[in-house]
Amino acid sequence: MHELSMAQGIIDAVLKTAEENDAVEVTEVSIEIGRLAMINPEQLRFMLSVLVENTIVENAKIEIEEIPVEIDCPECGFHGNAILDDLDHYAPMVSCPKCDNKRISILNGKDCIVKNIVIEKPDDKED
Ligand SMILES: [Zn+2]
Repeated sequence: MHELSMAQGIIDAVLKTAEENDAVEVTEVSIEIGRLAMINPEQLRFMLSVLVENTIVENAKIEIEEIPVEIDCPECGFHGNAILDDLDHYAPMVSCPKCDNKRISILNGKDCIVKNIVIEKPDDKED
């Protein structure tokens, strides 16, 4: 399943970053999903909650933010966010909101990225 492999990739990336920074715990993970990444945020959240079990990410607060699709229209010169009216579809059609041209360049919104993670280091602990 698409969401599962995506969730696995996210957790791998978070754990790697956490390890590199000597984290004892990950307290927060912020994820950005492009509207065209074809990821269902609820499914992704569920997969993540399963995958973090027994890891240092287990108690992290997971923020998932959907980001809009940014386009460039060669036809009318429009640059900005495309309007996707059929968000439930797995292959939404993207067109220019100004001239309805469908042969546009998609600049952003296709990826799923880990934007930020917050970790706790041993030094942060009070004793
Ligand atoms: Zn246009």
